[in-house]
Amino acid sequence: MRLMITEQDPALDMLCQVFGFDGFRGAQREIIDHVAGGGDALVLMPTGGGKSLCYQLPALLREGTAIVVSPLIALMQDQVAAMQQVGVRAACLNSALDGRGAASVLRELRDGRLDLLYLAPERLLMSHTLDLLHETPLALFAIDEAHCVSQWGHDFRPEYLQLSVLHEQFPAVPRIALTATADPQTRAEIISRLQLDAAQVFVSSFDRPNIRYTLVDKVEPRAQLLRFIRESHRDEAGIVYCLTRRKVDETAIWLAEHGVRALPYHAGMETGVRAAHQARFQREDGIVMVATIAFGMGIDKPDVRFVAHLDLPKSIEGYYQETGRAGRDGQPADAWLAYGLADVVQQRRLIDMSEANEAFKRIATAKLDALLGLCETAACRRVRLLEYFGEPGSPCGNCDNCLAPPQTWDATESARKALSAIYRTGQRFGASHLIDVLRGKQTERVMQRGHQRLTVFGVGNDLDERSWHGIFRQLVTLGLAQPDHTAYGALRLTEAARPVLRGEQPISMRHSITEVPAARARRAAAMAAPAEADPVLLARLKSWRSDHARRQSIPAYVILHDSTLTEIASRQPCDRTELGGISGIGARKLERYGEELLALLRGEILVPSEHAE
Ligand code: ADP
Ligand code: ZN
Repeated sequence: MRLMITEQDPALDMLCQVFGFDGFRGAQREIIDHVAGGGDALVLMPTGGGKSLCYQLPALLREGTAIVVSPLIALMQDQVAAMQQVGVRAACLNSALDGRGAASVLRELRDGRLDLLYLAPERLLMSHTLDLLHETPLALFAIDEAHCVSQWGHDFRPEYLQLSVLHEQFPAVPRIALTATADPQTRAEIISRLQLDAAQVFVSSFDRPNIRYTLVDKVEPRAQLLRFIRESHRDEAGIVYCLTRRKVDETAIWLAEHGVRALPYHAGMETGVRAAHQARFQREDGIVMVATIAFGMGIDKPDVRFVAHLDLPKSIEGYYQETGRAGRDGQPADAWLAYGLADVVQQRRLIDMSEANEAFKRIATAKLDALLGLCETAACRRVRLLEYFGEPGSPCGNCDNCLAPPQTWDATESARKALSAIYRTGQRFGASHLIDVLRGKQTERVMQRGHQRLTVFGVGNDLDERSWHGIFRQLVTLGLAQPDHTAYGALRLTEAARPVLRGEQPISMRHSITEVPAARARRAAAMAAPAEADPVLLARLKSWRSDHARRQSIPAYVILHDSTLTEIASRQPCDRTELGGISGIGARKLERYGEELLALLRGEILVPSEHAE
């Protein structure tokens, strides 16, 4: 591979020639200069922001081998394959390697033949690994997924706590810690536990402008989900999150019966099957993974087109992290969530019934309330999300509320009726029974309890059942009623309900919205698609790529990203120079695939135009 790295700007030269990109993104430039110059750094960037380059480029710019600590051995192989594709000398050491494989990697390290070595933390901390590193020239340490040191976070890895030895034993080697977890508490914990007090902190905007947020009222969740997939994401890769293992299994089966290529994933499955499902999701096109939150960290598949939630997450942090797995390639993607009163009741019960102490329950309740606030807001979802992470913003034009501002209505009278139904029935019933009473239904339970004689019986005939469900849900999220978990979720009034009952406080609610109008979603998708990429050519390119991916046993996107193929299909370059000008094609890929691609474009190589990845 011929590279022309100049004295003036070696970082930019490497970016263009090795990675095939024409410019840095966001703070990449500053971070790379800082670390290449020997400084320590803490990098907070959202998923898909381009964290990897922040250590990969300094690794190439500095003498010696860069050590990358990553908790996810399943993904190291793909990362190494991606590096090798661009001609970088990378390897990994993990428990998946046999003795011979490990010995050969160690030999390469000793001989100075590696630019990057990926290691699991437990492997790094072994005394013989540390001994070996002392004898090896080191470019830097990169600590990926650095939030794993946080004992309060959901990804806590005890071995991460011991990574402070890096500073103690290798004080002269620069360290760069990276994470997509944004909150100030985690940041402080990373700095103190990894002894990064002297590190420069780089905080990027956490906005993910290509993700469209849509939160709908849950009516028939599966049917709503299926409609959403069929209308906006047919044959595209996505993740559907459910709360329980059972629901994961049932939903996956149901989607599969309805023609969606869905696979289940949860911690209760046999390890081999689970790993096989993850590998298929990662490598094949268009798989929908139905999963509990056990699935996710470190999924670096760039072309996940949607993340759907069939159950309410526990907090905005969780929601943001889970939805952040969509659209890492910067192309349009959807975050879709369906929620209803039952979800609110269920999440509150999980908190109330947990063994945790009061302080923990208070925090958990506050976090859930913040999430419910996001669900019920009539204002821009993105503004609300970013505000939560301490970042100001303005209405985005790419969320459900911006695209179709929800109607609000004066719900004062209806709220009073609902609250008095709770009160008159003795605060011992859940929403379904209360709705029967309000709508004047003579059910067995109504008759048994004599509720047909109450003044509230039948006063809610003006609204249908679904509207009443929406009202009760909003009463709970507004804090006017709360479920009593010692009484099967019976609704009780709170102090805040008094002024409303007395007619002293008006209540405004949003009309329920159950789906995004499909025509609009499709039009937006068409708008975002790059101009005039020849679909037949694109299909042939994908088929060509699948063929290479299969032969090299690596995921297709490691060969070339979708966005690169799309650009090829629309610009149709006719020589090496033009092809080299396409984003994602560096010197090594040009050398390796250039002639074949040009021949394919000239129609000299025939590939089946059906792509079957
Ligand atoms: P993160 O680790 O922050 O989630 P990645 O490092 O995987 O993100 O980068 C996300 C995507 O953006 C990758 O496909 C990567 O190739 C691409 N990318 C990163 N930096 C640039 C850049 N400067 N120009 C073009 N594409 C980039
Ligand atoms: Zn918005």
